[in-house]
Amino acid sequence: MEADEAHLIGPAASAESYLRIDTLLRVAERAGAEAVHPGYGFLAERAPFSKAVRDAGLTFVGPTPETIAAMGDKTEARQRMQAAGVPIVPGLTEAVEDPEEAMVHAEDIGYPVLLKAAAGGGGKGMRVVATPEDLPGAFEGARREALAAFGDGSVYLERYLDRPRHVEIQVLGDQHGRVVHLGERECSIQRRHQKLVEEAPSPVLSPEEREAMGQAAVRAAEAVDYEGAGTVEFLYQDGEFFFLEMNTRLQVEHPVTELVTGLDLVAWQLRVASGEPLDFAQDDVRLEGHAIECRITSEDAFQGFLPSTGTVRRLDLPSGPGVRWDGGIQEGFDVSLHYDPLLGKLITYAPTRAEAIRRMGRALDELVVVGLETCTAFHARVMDEPDFQAGDLTIRYLEEHPDLADGDADAEVRAAAVTAALLEEAHRQRHQAPRIASGGGGAAPGTMSPWRRSGWPWRAS
Ligand code: ADP
Repeated sequence: MEADEAHLIGPAASAESYLRIDTLLRVAERAGAEAVHPGYGFLAERAPFSKAVRDAGLTFVGPTPETIAAMGDKTEARQRMQAAGVPIVPGLTEAVEDPEEAMVHAEDIGYPVLLKAAAGGGGKGMRVVATPEDLPGAFEGARREALAAFGDGSVYLERYLDRPRHVEIQVLGDQHGRVVHLGERECSIQRRHQKLVEEAPSPVLSPEEREAMGQAAVRAAEAVDYEGAGTVEFLYQDGEFFFLEMNTRLQVEHPVTELVTGLDLVAWQLRVASGEPLDFAQDDVRLEGHAIECRITSEDAFQGFLPSTGTVRRLDLPSGPGVRWDGGIQEGFDVSLHYDPLLGKLITYAPTRAEAIRRMGRALDELVVVGLETCTAFHARVMDEPDFQAGDLTIRYLEEHPDLADGDADAEVRAAAVTAALLEEAHRQRHQAPRIASGGGGAAPGTMSPWRRSGWPWRAS
């Protein structure tokens, strides 16, 4: 929406437009572009795209095809990380050929195990296996899903961690051999292995743990000659952390890091891609304040995150100090099923985590999208939830708090709030002399407004 020029790249279906390397290069040439920024979806992590852009004489804003390929294969990445002294989730560093072989390794690793696609991404081709009896079926399932999604059915095994947190480190490397890390992001609140809420810093890391994890991430990036902005993902449990994967691109959740470091990551991507050296060292990186991001998607969280489509009839955006909206919609915009359901990202920043949460609660209340369902009210519930507020998170947060996405609970809460408001009103009318005519509307002081979109019991008083 801030673009100076727009060029048609083909029909809505991404296979005929955003995923067509030849078309994109033709358009880049026609536009007279010198560089291509791959964004964070579609071809952003495809080595052949990075190569094709470079072969066409353009600058690819991101790492080399070799780096992308090395990190894109999870088994190869695990081998490289092990060699670089980065702790990996216990398990294999090579694909397993058949269920019998998988069975032997699973005994060694210990159940429950996680079957994973070597070419994986987006949580696809992943199966948790609790017992040996479930292994053959899960193996075939994971293999089939991986083949369909990535054209590569290789799978391997990892130990399934019971209640880990997802903590990742942002790194930035230049073309002159310098790599720095910009601290961590906590992304434990996920649904089906997809992130919903992210924050920086993590409420759990001590300064020593941050230092250790940051150094491991720098080692990881250096091991693949990393250039540009990237993310090294870890699972953290009981003071230990394990390399999960590296995303060789900018991530959706990068704004929280921008806010706590004061660095513009996209600007740095462009500067690094043009050959500029990083003009600061690790010791210059300061983390200040707290930032939270909620992914606002066109999904009805209270109907199992059912995708919703429609035209945006009205859009009211929150504003005020410490509020940022990175959006992709406008009034009149048609939301279809062709693309990812992400409509925009709401980010708040404040000196402390508690204030950032309060700011987010207020900003979510101000955000109005008319014309389709969004998950805004779900996020408001998360902001109010005591375990979230205490920073007590694991990747199973959503499973362990089913009420947050329970539409019936919402209806019950609303019904209870309406009843409470009516009772209070009746009580007041009985006990008050009718001197002043009521202004009407609004709930009585001290009761929750029944119309509050984020109505949730512990927010009532
Ligand atoms: P993908 O590339 O498909 O996104 P990842 O390896 O990044 O897969 O894992 C995605 C998510 O799956 C993690 O954030 C975590 O929630 C879960 N996960 C992955 N590996 C494990 C594991 N060994 N134990 C428990 N959970 C895991």
